[in-house]
Amino acid sequence: MSKILIVEDEEAIADLEKDYLELSGFEVEIENRGDMGLVKALNEEFDLLILDLMLPEIDGFEICRQVREKKDLPIIMVSAKKDDIDKIRGLGLGADDYMTKPFSPSELVARVKAHLSRYDRLIGSGKKTNDIVEIRGIKIDKTARRVWVNGEEKQFTTKEFDLLTFLAENPNRVFTKDELFREIWDMESIGDIATVTVHIKKIREKIEFNTAKPQYIETIWGVGYRFKA
Ligand code: CA
Repeated sequence: MSKILIVEDEEAIADLEKDYLELSGFEVEIENRGDMGLVKALNEEFDLLILDLMLPEIDGFEICRQVREKKDLPIIMVSAKKDDIDKIRGLGLGADDYMTKPFSPSELVARVKAHLSRYDRLIGSGKKTNDIVEIRGIKIDKTARRVWVNGEEKQFTTKEFDLLTFLAENPNRVFTKDELFREIWDMESIGDIATVTVHIKKIREKIEFNTAKPQYIETIWGVGYRFKA
């Protein structure tokens, strides 16, 4: 449930806004003084702030400015002043919306819903999703560096993981052992192309049902390996 803070010194207006928002399923708290509202907005978790402009002690502009510095939540400023300059000032301080009193409570509810869903989308789109490679029952989570074979998680060493991921990301292409060695092991590393053979064997033991008849990593005799997609 989304939690909304109303900072409004006209109690009748604050109560009306609260009633309508609660009817729409929001949890609502009211502060009538600017200084109290600022403290509450900064120290408690809210999903949206409805902020009156003219308030005792600290006005809505100052509250908006201070909250904006610390918190990322939609702020709707309301005011009895129809002055356009006030609107611009309000928006310039980082308010998301501005409403002139008197407004219909249902208009307020509609805007609250619109801003909350817009913020959800912004936050949602900022979330990093894991980079997944999936081929015929093998699932490789590149971000978490985890591998599942037919739903069962298997453990791989760093180089086994890198080699498997590289092959799976380049399916149906034949790579020589030299190419794979250069790709996965840096030039300084000790070892040779026999290392590739050993790692392929280890990987097959973990992903193949029958290592004598590999279904994923095929040996192309005299050339190298190919991951069959
Ligand atoms: Ca006021």
